[in-house]
Amino acid sequence: MNVLIIAAHPDDEVLGAGGAMARHIQDNDTVTIVILGSGLSSRLDAPEALEQPALSQLRNEAARAAAALGVTDLRLHDFPDNRFDRVDLLDIVKTIEVVIDDVQPGIVYTHHPGDLNIDHQRTAMATLTACRPLPGSSVRRILAMEVPSATGWGDPALPFVPNVFLDITQVMTKKLEAMSAYQGELRQFPHARSLPSMEARAKAWGSQVGVEAAEPFVLLREILP
Ligand SMILES: [Zn+2]
Repeated sequence: MNVLIIAAHPDDEVLGAGGAMARHIQDNDTVTIVILGSGLSSRLDAPEALEQPALSQLRNEAARAAAALGVTDLRLHDFPDNRFDRVDLLDIVKTIEVVIDDVQPGIVYTHHPGDLNIDHQRTAMATLTACRPLPGSSVRRILAMEVPSATGWGDPALPFVPNVFLDITQVMTKKLEAMSAYQGELRQFPHARSLPSMEARAKAWGSQVGVEAAEPFVLLREILP
């Protein structure tokens, strides 16, 4: 099984589907991560030259996070952070289509369309477009992941109501290890991007479905054979 994770920013992929990726790797699935945004410009107003070291650091962190989960195929793009609405949706769609053609994924994980973050919304829409179920499409399942804060603070008309839960009890340590690679992104508890908060969320979702730790997803589309 080929699996594709399409995230807007470095660290979204771990927060939302770190456990799922570790589980897929355990199951000998092939996992590809695509990160569309550079992850920087929203936090730095520095000129390009000054951003370079921070950009390389973030890219290294993304590579280390992927390695911690056992993922070797990481593809980084540089769409402008928090400005995906200034990019033609078609450009994002085309970028995703190239990967879909190449990877032929059966399962795709992406953002929830109701997230507060504009890049997450555009990523979700572009993914749904790139994965439209035309004859010959490999994609059988599209799942929207939860990225704490962006997902919880979204449009009340589009709430994140998960209907798919993955038991990540055995791989929770791997998920936290992967997030630890993002030293520049980690915050102190009770921030959503803190290790204790990630653990607490996983336990809360787990207790909702009778396991110790879980990752929640919204099923956006499934095509059964
Ligand atoms: Zn994000």
